[in-house]
Amino acid sequence: MNILIVGSGVVGLSTALDLALSGERVTVVTRNYEEGASWVAGGMLAPLSEELEGDLLDLSVDSLNLYGDFIGRVEEVSGIKVFFEREGILRLGVEEEELGEVYRRAERYREMGFKVEKLGPSEIRAEEPYLSEKIEGGVLYGDEGNVDAEKLMDALLIAMNQLGVRIVVDDVVEVEKRDRRVESVKGLKDVYRADFYVFATGSWSRATLNLPVFPVKGQILKVKGPEPRKVCYSRISYIIPKEGYVLLGATSEDAGFDTRNTLEGVGSLIDGAVKVMPSLKEAELLDIKVGFRPGTPDGKPIFDAGDNYLVLVGHYRNGILWAPVSSRIALDLIQKGVRSRYLDSFSPSRFEG
Ligand SMILES: Cc1cc2nc3c(=O)[nH]c(=O)nc-3n(C[C@H](O)[C@H](O)[C@H](O)COP(=O)(O)OP(=O)(O)OC[C@H]3O[C@@H](n4cnc5c(N)ncnc54)[C@H](O)[C@@H]3O)c2cc1C
Repeated sequence: MNILIVGSGVVGLSTALDLALSGERVTVVTRNYEEGASWVAGGMLAPLSEELEGDLLDLSVDSLNLYGDFIGRVEEVSGIKVFFEREGILRLGVEEEELGEVYRRAERYREMGFKVEKLGPSEIRAEEPYLSEKIEGGVLYGDEGNVDAEKLMDALLIAMNQLGVRIVVDDVVEVEKRDRRVESVKGLKDVYRADFYVFATGSWSRATLNLPVFPVKGQILKVKGPEPRKVCYSRISYIIPKEGYVLLGATSEDAGFDTRNTLEGVGSLIDGAVKVMPSLKEAELLDIKVGFRPGTPDGKPIFDAGDNYLVLVGHYRNGILWAPVSSRIALDLIQKGVRSRYLDSFSPSRFEG
């Protein structure tokens, strides 16, 4: 089958990888393969630290379970090592009130069967010696993980080349549809036709698909300095060690597609990180990045399947985490004709009326 994927973020490329590996002929059309949120993401695989519940938690757990094999496929096809670990994330309570909430929520997750370790002041510093003396405790969520999103995107792009997936740079301006069928996709340079279409256009999905998706701007710092052993997640800062550098994230701003790095944003990131880990004051600033989380009115993704198309957008704060399960939804539908239950949970019909 000829499959056209619009969008080359983590959702589009993961789907392209798996479809190409299953023998489909895949073309990716993208306006700009570096503008996606996927290139700047923190790469935390953190559904419990993110306090997800219900269908969002189920989606996350399914995706976490697929992650190891997904990274294996990416590495095997691309020949590139992608930093990925499942050593757990430290969910800190920076203020007393936050700590109480962290413990209460963790208890609920423990009852659901997740790996939860409650840590007091001395235990948390044994886990992470660089933490500020002021931090009284937190929780180790042992199921959570961390992936280098930038490396993953580099490797996915190389994998496209290895698999013969064509990447066409074009701006899709119209999707011609009749009822539940896509007839063609019009770009500024060409018109594209395929047997099946996948739309993975992230924050830009309102313009192309008329769906209620909007950009949530995030600034994030890349630094070199004291490297914590584990991801340290709190309300005021995310400190995310990778191989050879650390990410300090992330702002969350309602600022449209404003690509500027602002002093206010950068200042708040430094303040938050240094409060949690004072020795980061000495860190060298390597880069300041900005990206747009694909937000939706209820913070949940939007999945929709027509006769010959699939929409996978609105991955908001967790698109790196949800990439493998998004790709699985596509594969099951296209190759086996099996409709994932998540197509009902996250249907755009919830916004109608
Ligand atoms: C600062 C920050 C930190 C984050 N941290 C995490 C984290 O720790 N963990 C996590 O899981 N997630 C995180 N996220 C969220 C995650 O990055 C996103 O949910 C995910 O990257 C979305 O992927 P995507 O493929 O849907 O979209 P994108 O990566 O945004 O890609 C969309 C693609 O579609 C293309 N496109 C759009 N419109 C058109 C068009 N009309 N024609 C052609 N091409 C088009 C764009 O050019 C782009 O290539 C973070 C995001 C930000 C900004």
